[in-house]
Amino acid sequence: CLLQLFSHLNKSAADNILFLFTNARSTHYAPGDSGPVLESILKDLRERPPNVDIKYSTNTIYCFDNESFRYLVATVPPNNMKFSEDNKIDYNASWDRSVKECKRMFDYIRTLRPYNIRDTLSLNSAKQVILLLSQPLADIAKNIADNQIQCEARKRRILECESDINKLQVELYVPQVDIISTPLPHPKLVCTDTSCCTRRHVQGTSVTQYDNECQYTTLMEYENEQFNVGIGYGKFLFGASQSQTKSSQKVMCLTCGHGTQSHRYIRYENKVQHRQVRDETKQQRITSVSEAAEAQRSQLEELEVKIGELTRESNIIVKCMARFAYFLAQNSLTRMDDHFERHIQQLIDDEVNTGAISDDDSSKVIVGKLKQLLDSYNCEKQLIINALKSMNANEFNISLDEIQGMISELCGLKWTGSTIVRLMEMQRCVQVRGHTRVNVVSHSVPDKAAVFSKLNVY
Ligand SMILES: [Zn+2]
Ligand SMILES: [Zn+2]
Repeated sequence: CLLQLFSHLNKSAADNILFLFTNARSTHYAPGDSGPVLESILKDLRERPPNVDIKYSTNTIYCFDNESFRYLVATVPPNNMKFSEDNKIDYNASWDRSVKECKRMFDYIRTLRPYNIRDTLSLNSAKQVILLLSQPLADIAKNIADNQIQCEARKRRILECESDINKLQVELYVPQVDIISTPLPHPKLVCTDTSCCTRRHVQGTSVTQYDNECQYTTLMEYENEQFNVGIGYGKFLFGASQSQTKSSQKVMCLTCGHGTQSHRYIRYENKVQHRQVRDETKQQRITSVSEAAEAQRSQLEELEVKIGELTRESNIIVKCMARFAYFLAQNSLTRMDDHFERHIQQLIDDEVNTGAISDDDSSKVIVGKLKQLLDSYNCEKQLIINALKSMNANEFNISLDEIQGMISELCGLKWTGSTIVRLMEMQRCVQVRGHTRVNVVSHSVPDKAAVFSKLNVY
């Protein structure tokens, strides 16, 4: 929960983070049990990447209690509740203490350097766009590979025709594999385990369909089973050490039973469509053998150009994604998963797991191409890290403008640009709808909102 909050902030916010503890009278105006937990989280952030040092000291810790305010509300009309004199003294002390703490906090805040919220907002929206792009770009990277395979196959067929004009006329076209995506009504949790999805093959191009809509459940696991079955009862009575009762949580899927590792959220579903792009005028002109040879030559050239252009687009995608990943790591308070890498790896696993079923070796070619893509992606990331080492760490900084430039470059790509725009928009819409749904649930007034129901005022 704390990490989720941090994930919305940038590294530059680290110095301006304060920790406020409420209901602190019961813990004698100290952090109480949350203290050690919080400290261990902060230690983790400090010692592991992204190595952010969030200060945890008297200056950043403030403890309050609002019981005196509740007391005040309870004593005045329409509540008119009566309290003993002892209570009143307690609440007075509590009020003074909290006011003092409040003053101390404002004094400290005055010494802090202001944190630029506008930067955060634009940084956050850039981060959002990048996160929304990782799935579409992985899908498109595969689509590029699919298209290249189709073009290569077409080249072979056209070469086979030699001088047979009739046969050649049939084969003369540029194949195009399109991604047809349908947005889902809300983000859907799916399982990527082979037993939970179906692979469909359409003319040598494969798509994964997820069979289930999954649901997580949280299981509590006790580290010490003895304690659980009651054998350690004696120990428990005589003050068993805290570690014996420490429990860990395990999240599992209710629907299929697989772990979180094999699950992910999707916001749209993909299908593929094969098209044949023919140049009719070119075909009508073929009457002689020499014209056929010319048509064959120009068609091969056209295919070659398309393959080349697709390779270039794929390289741009990889380059941008590597920079995006660096940008995210550079600006986040918390550790970011590499979503792009995970998506590509997922596509590879899908192909490998079902490769045996497909009737041709296009699956192997696709795996080869995707692995190559992943290699060059990691290579790009390494290049950035190397560049970083060779100069001052603060100098190598990917700016917001550069990120925006890269996004518009991606959207303007000849073959895949329009699909990138379409899928990104889809991601955004479904994401927003997902938020709406979650908000409706979390904003309902809980049944036990005792204070509110007593006051009858909202
Ligand atoms: Zn599942
Ligand atoms: Zn499953």
